[in-house]
Amino acid sequence: MQDKAKAGKSSNLIRGATGDWEVVVGLEVHAQVASKSKLFSGASTAFGAEPNSHVSLVDAAMPGMLPVINEECIAQAVRTGLGLKAKINLRSVFDRKNYFYPDLPQGYQISQYKQPVVGEGEVVVDVDGVALKVGIERLHLEQDAGKSIHDQHPDYSYVDLNRSGVALMEIVSKPDLRSAREAQAYVSKLRTILRYLGTSDADMEKGNLRADVNVSVRRPGEPLGTRCEIKNVNSIRFIGQAIEAEARRQIEVLEDGGRIDQETRLFDAAKGETRAMRSKEEAHDYRYFPDPDLLPLELTKDYVAKLERGLPELPDEKRARFMKAYGLSGYDAGVLVAEKERGDYYELMVKDGAEPKAAANWLINEYLGRINRPPMDWLVQWSTPIQRPWPVATMGPISPSANSAIVQMVSSGEISGKIAKELLEISWELGPDADPRAVVVERGMKQVTDTGAIERAVDEIIALNPDKVAAVKAKPTMLGWFVGQVMKASGGKANPAAVNEILKRKLGI
Ligand code: MN
Repeated sequence: MQDKAKAGKSSNLIRGATGDWEVVVGLEVHAQVASKSKLFSGASTAFGAEPNSHVSLVDAAMPGMLPVINEECIAQAVRTGLGLKAKINLRSVFDRKNYFYPDLPQGYQISQYKQPVVGEGEVVVDVDGVALKVGIERLHLEQDAGKSIHDQHPDYSYVDLNRSGVALMEIVSKPDLRSAREAQAYVSKLRTILRYLGTSDADMEKGNLRADVNVSVRRPGEPLGTRCEIKNVNSIRFIGQAIEAEARRQIEVLEDGGRIDQETRLFDAAKGETRAMRSKEEAHDYRYFPDPDLLPLELTKDYVAKLERGLPELPDEKRARFMKAYGLSGYDAGVLVAEKERGDYYELMVKDGAEPKAAANWLINEYLGRINRPPMDWLVQWSTPIQRPWPVATMGPISPSANSAIVQMVSSGEISGKIAKELLEISWELGPDADPRAVVVERGMKQVTDTGAIERAVDEIIALNPDKVAAVKAKPTMLGWFVGQVMKASGGKANPAAVNEILKRKLGI
């Protein structure tokens, strides 16, 4: 990746009717902490349970109940801070953020306000091959609220408190992003880091990663404009669409001589536009104050150091290692480390004997394409609870060692590249226990390098096509037709290099 500064001025400007505009974006990402129980109670955090089946007396805010901090949630927040190369604050404080809403039985949310557990950090994002450093302002811990359900009954709304009290990490970026693409790349990198760390599943479909998107526009070089906050955007695609729609709206207002009011807005995905939710005049006064039921959180340096020693290899480090150890390009290494399972799978292929560059090419250009090509019914077929040494749901039904064997057979000339693709399809159907070496033997798929057999096929085709033989002497590019005929006659198994050589010799060109 190049450095952003070296790549020259950002080409992210938006053309308005009266000149260029720059969009400025900052994100507040809420990531659900990966932990078995909630932030201040022992109730389960399992997804998809019967409504109100995972609710302790604390989560329901029964009078007299006291919160007890879940140490695992603290450790997860600190690990995340370390993964974001951020400052860990040894002393942090839980505050009460007071507001009234039916899904918030306490009447306040416990959240870290003035003194968060994690301070400033940094995430390096790859935007079209250019490295962009995005500042992290802070990370704080807070409780999630319950969920209001409005579609079960015409006259009533219901409340499900399963989510009430679940631990969230709110990760606040600096306003360092200048386009929808940059914001999308940032969220996707953040998601990768959280998954590597194991501190959040970061699954947007389950709602355990949600973003509040702050957008403003300005003329290049001018001070920051007034920002609007788009609440709770729940997919990377929608984050991009919301930023583009909101930037366009603000530019139109300003070019018409209006002004932007600071307000909270919602993104309507069906209409592709944002609309006002509440303005600053109606904004809540949350009356923050330290929660008297909770002591300040005090961590020791030793505790933080111990967590730091236990951190796994993170994507940036893994990418650098792949480039150095396996001689991969930055792009290829980046594709392989984008998902932790993918990088692990790749290394299993190499460990099984595949040449590193050939394995990377095969995985990226052939196998990932196969995994992502619809129909996806294999997901149901092979994602059985049987334990495999690789995650079938993300890496498909073929084992790393089977893919490694295919790559090795191509490298050694045992099979052609064309046959390798056929072998992939056959192995795919056979599933996790497929043995491509056995398939090659059983089905006679070995590449024919026996020049005697190739010569016989060449002689036959020359004898049958005297007109084409005359033509190719005048026009040597016609040789391709002969190669095709010989390959067809051999069922795709003839070694193409040998076919070419023998044809040229026999045709005298
Ligand atoms: Mn929040």
